[in-house]
Amino acid sequence: MISYGRQDISEQDIEAVIAILRSDWLTQGPAITRFEQTVADYCGVKHAIAVSSATAALHIACLASGLGDRDLLWTSPNTFVASANCGLYCGAKVNFVDIDPHTYNLSIDELEKKLTKAAKQKCLPKVLIPVHFAGQSCEMEKIAALSQQYGFKVIEDASHAIGSKYHGKAIGCCEFSEMAIFSFHPVKIITTGEGGMILTNHQDLYEKLMRLRSHGITRNPDLMQGESHGAWYYQQLDLGFNYRMTDIQAALGTSQMQRLDEFVTRRRYLAQRYDRLLQDLPITLPYQHSDTESSWHLYVIRLNLDKINKTHRQVFEELRESGIGVNLHYIPVHIQPYYQDIGFQSGDFPEAERYYQDAISIPLYYGLTNKEQDIVIDSLQKILS
Ligand SMILES: *Cc1c(COP(=O)(O)O)cnc(C)c1O
Repeated sequence: MISYGRQDISEQDIEAVIAILRSDWLTQGPAITRFEQTVADYCGVKHAIAVSSATAALHIACLASGLGDRDLLWTSPNTFVASANCGLYCGAKVNFVDIDPHTYNLSIDELEKKLTKAAKQKCLPKVLIPVHFAGQSCEMEKIAALSQQYGFKVIEDASHAIGSKYHGKAIGCCEFSEMAIFSFHPVKIITTGEGGMILTNHQDLYEKLMRLRSHGITRNPDLMQGESHGAWYYQQLDLGFNYRMTDIQAALGTSQMQRLDEFVTRRRYLAQRYDRLLQDLPITLPYQHSDTESSWHLYVIRLNLDKINKTHRQVFEELRESGIGVNLHYIPVHIQPYYQDIGFQSGDFPEAERYYQDAISIPLYYGLTNKEQDIVIDSLQKILS
């Protein structure tokens, strides 16, 4: 089976992990600081906070934004459930902004319409989580202008997008957002096994996030209330969590970072090769906005079902039967039973639902060989002819 995505682990990655196993630190220690510095330098952002997953990152990013039980969070329905669940963790209400039919990111037109309406009804969101779907940046400049106008905070879910650019700058620089988060799950661009990171240019958010990652505790006397009792002393200032990453994971992450550009270059090459070799099939190929350079976490095709004598499901299953590990990103979050139970209905976000009727993610990852890619292309040609 050729999977839709997978990690690439080098001998150097393995050596980096072994070195940590032989060292004094296993949990959060000096390797975390090195990993955070490496990613912050790469992105051109002031602060980076490594955590145990992107889900944890989204949770504490929402808390640091002050999101609470009287607040609203908006995100895209075309995402992994974690981008919405983080709002519910904070007791907030969640809502969605339907997607753009070309980029599959949340639609700026829909966002503007929904904001105008929400302003009249006095139910504006406190936090917006734009998701850079498949690695392609959302239109951040427009989102930032709307956030100024309507007073919401922006947390970029950049789980797909480390190594991507917007207006020539690295995603994660936070030029147009309060915070951005990355995922290091093995199917993403680089991996730490499990892991995530939050990037920000704000010192106050940084300090808050550092505490929330580790039980709400600080050892910094400058942040304490009253006097320190001595060298052993710490204070709990917030209700935090144990969302720490281990040094073992961070060493893998730092080692993977050295190949990030190589990973992205190869993914981009494979994506362009698909673009060229699939152009005559009855499918819609990914659209790229000229402001963005994607890291190509996913390559999504859409079946032009009126030109194919098969259903979406048939094509999907025939590809799987031919050994092509296709997938579908994403089932719209609002049609998940949990979200239906809290009041969402099919039909609420029609563009995301239409997308779900004909989208398929085909294999794309650093280690995919041209030969394997040819097998994917041949299978698609056969199945769609
Ligand atoms: C993978 C992913 C997450 C969650 O990442 P974890 O590190 O597995 O918690 C969140 N949002 C999006 C868009 C993702 O793709």
